[in-house]
Amino acid sequence: MEEGLARKKAELILGGDVRIPDGFRMPFRISRSTAGPGAGKRGAVFAFGGTRVKKGIVASGGDFELVVKEDGYSLNRGGRIFIDDVTIEPVIFHAPGQAFFNMDNRCIFRCIYCRSPNLENGSRVSGEMMVSMIRGLPEGAEIGGIAVTSGVVGNIGETVRDMVECVSVLHREFPDLPIGVEPYVNEKSQIDAFSDAGVSEMKINVETARRDIFDLACPGLDRDALLEMLEYSVSVFGRGKVASNIIVGLGETDEDVETVMEKLCAIGVVPGLRPLKAGSEELVRISETLGTPAGADADRIVRLAKIQKRVLAEHGLGTSQFRTMCFACGCCDLVPFKDL
Ligand code: SF4
Repeated sequence: MEEGLARKKAELILGGDVRIPDGFRMPFRISRSTAGPGAGKRGAVFAFGGTRVKKGIVASGGDFELVVKEDGYSLNRGGRIFIDDVTIEPVIFHAPGQAFFNMDNRCIFRCIYCRSPNLENGSRVSGEMMVSMIRGLPEGAEIGGIAVTSGVVGNIGETVRDMVECVSVLHREFPDLPIGVEPYVNEKSQIDAFSDAGVSEMKINVETARRDIFDLACPGLDRDALLEMLEYSVSVFGRGKVASNIIVGLGETDEDVETVMEKLCAIGVVPGLRPLKAGSEELVRISETLGTPAGADADRIVRLAKIQKRVLAEHGLGTSQFRTMCFACGCCDLVPFKDL
């Protein structure tokens, strides 16, 4: 993909919602996510130039506009064509091509950038419910993987037990589909339990580039435990089968991001760079808590993705091996080796 298009993807990721024309009916079911950057919003996936972005959709306002052409769609901004040839992709659950479930959007922790615990109607989705949702998909729905994440409800051990139970049920019913999980874990035995239950890909988020930012942004989470769990996960699932998100735009420098990516790659973990997506009120709260302006621009996102690609290559790591979660989806970040 040419760099100009990668930059447009970065602008789309960072920008606001997509306005849909009056009376337009989406060709596919609308996604309603309870985790990730689009948590709480109606969303759709727009594909172009071999990549795709998931955006919130609105009937009025928004930064971008979907334009229906005779031969397809374009995305406009400010009345001008922003991306000419766009298609709309079906979402299975939360993501295109995979059933990605949030077992419970409630959470005892309060990371300052996370929307999930603030959504109304927090509720639990059981493994059996996930199975029947997959079985209820329309005929022809192409599902390449399953993923499960969750907020921490009650305590960490109970939440992990419930996630393992979900995965066991899913693996029993769909033994041929790869399963990834994105839990908060603090004991090695929890990682073994996920592996025994049928998980093949693990994601444990280190969340921030620097420890001092982590301590302010994620009160109650244990960074040392996360790093220990990441290292142990590589011994269980293998190099390149474990991922970890770093949020970009919390006042860290490019050097901070490179340093933590080096550290993760050195233990066989594939770092993902997630641009901060926050509303204006959240941005103010984040800036006040951290004492630095929050957010990142498209140039920085492109620059960091290039550094990410170089660091991954230096460690013999890639992104294309993942069958589940964000590297397989690619809707919210620039994905090295794919987007640039
Ligand atoms: S990139 Fe990750 S957070 Fe974004 S829609 Fe895809 S699976 Fe969800």
